[in-house]
Amino acid sequence: MQGLIMESQLLISSILKHADRNFGDREIVSIKADDPLHRCTYAECFRRTRQLANALAKLGLSRGDRIATLAWNDHRHLECYYAIAGSGFVCHTINPRLFPEQIIFIINHAEDRWIFVDPLIVPLLEKIAAQISAVEGFVVMTDDAHMPETSLKNAVSYEALIGSESDLFEWPVFDERTASALCYTSGTTGDPKGVLYDHRSTILHAYAEVMPDTLNLGSTDCVLPVVPLFHVNAWGIPYCAVMVGSKLVFPGPKMGDGETLYNLLEQEQVTLALGVPTVWLALLQYARDTGQKLNHLQRTVIGGAAVPEAMIREFRDAHDVTVIQAWGMTEMSPLGTASTPKSGSENWTPDEYIQMQTKAGRSVFGVEMRIVNDAGVELPWDGVAYGALQVRGPWICSGYFKLEGNSDAHTDDGWFDTGDVATINPDGYMAITDRTKDVIKSGGEWISSIDVENTAVGHDGVAEAAVIGVPHPKWTERPLLVIIRAEGVELSRDDMLAWLEGKIAKWWIPDDVVFVDEIPHTATGKIKKIELRKQFADYRLPS
Ligand code: AMP
Repeated sequence: MQGLIMESQLLISSILKHADRNFGDREIVSIKADDPLHRCTYAECFRRTRQLANALAKLGLSRGDRIATLAWNDHRHLECYYAIAGSGFVCHTINPRLFPEQIIFIINHAEDRWIFVDPLIVPLLEKIAAQISAVEGFVVMTDDAHMPETSLKNAVSYEALIGSESDLFEWPVFDERTASALCYTSGTTGDPKGVLYDHRSTILHAYAEVMPDTLNLGSTDCVLPVVPLFHVNAWGIPYCAVMVGSKLVFPGPKMGDGETLYNLLEQEQVTLALGVPTVWLALLQYARDTGQKLNHLQRTVIGGAAVPEAMIREFRDAHDVTVIQAWGMTEMSPLGTASTPKSGSENWTPDEYIQMQTKAGRSVFGVEMRIVNDAGVELPWDGVAYGALQVRGPWICSGYFKLEGNSDAHTDDGWFDTGDVATINPDGYMAITDRTKDVIKSGGEWISSIDVENTAVGHDGVAEAAVIGVPHPKWTERPLLVIIRAEGVELSRDDMLAWLEGKIAKWWIPDDVVFVDEIPHTATGKIKKIELRKQFADYRLPS
């Protein structure tokens, strides 16, 4: 027997309709190439979104066609999100920081028909135009007055495209499993792989994100996603923040600029900001150098890489800001876990609270997780056993775009193998110790490179740290610590090793420390361990 509940498709356009009716006066603030501080309301933004939908309807596209964006965080990009997906097309967000060859591959693989591009990114596309010739036209996200001279074919300014369109648009109703957005993973090896989200997964993910034990998001919040709209849908913020009517602040191309971020956080009275650890380094440094405090920010969500304990403490001690560490992946929409307290935490000491925050967190309802050993046998949640982390749930990918049946990332019993290695403690808090491919095995035991790196960056003299395994005649592999010194600081190998003493297991202490000027990163800011291992291929540990 079936229930007696209305048939209603979970569509992205329903978020927009709800927000338009209930939160029309909420503000969206954007830094843009053509406007240093643009302000509009939800109602204005959604009126323009309907105009854009009318313009898209004239491009001769079919449902499911891909329209790409190469753009920074601002209100026009948000309009693209809603107009493209709401019309039944697929919003394909592309990371402009990828190598040109990867961008060419991605555009051609996705068969993007049109591309929306930020004026600052036009030169990049002009250079590769000949290799993406199937794209029919380009919309430059500005007005005619600021339109750059460009050789891109059928180039039109965004404002000219939508300017004469009606702002009446009936959002089509279709199956909630229809694809809505496409994002390619920033894998360190092989071709990028496309993750294809649908309307249902997006809405369920948004519900999970706003929950109290996740982001605790509401209409009185003001949210600043420093995480780019081209990186896993800015972690879902364009959907969940709009769903509940939070004010939105978009930093445009100024994402890595500590001073701009500080000013935005203060002037706009941002309560929640989200980003990877590196952007917060820039912000904290600026606040430290200028002796200023963050007066409005209540919480930061930090993910995408392990969060150093020193950062959690500085946010707490200098700014009264609570860090929520989150873990997820492009393949997971991206949310998997969040490090928020659970009942019993009232009795925790401040240090115990920090220990919780240094973990990736508890799985949100909707994400099942397990850790397994090499034989696929599930391991206990005892906080000690390490294993390959696997997940499943309604917003986790079941395959990759146009690679159906060809992904070795899924197990026979339907779990997604994240490629991360983790422990889970009896309270359900998961901690990432490594990527499967980066694990250091010394004498048959795993050493967590992430723990060693985090402990190392706790030293004031360390700007960045990476740990890799190098061959060792007796132990097979031993850790090597690679460090970028903080500016103007004297720090020796012995200082560093002495600092680690007593903070991590004795046999985890690296056999050597080397100082470098640069550590290679992927386009999404992750350390490229493969490259680092290549760089140190000829390195020999001191005997
Ligand atoms: P991406 O798909 O680019 O978002 O990258 C996902 C990967 O980033 C995960 O599989 C992890 O390896 C890493 N990652 C994300 N969040 C965290 C975290 N809180 N701690 C450690 N690693 C993380």
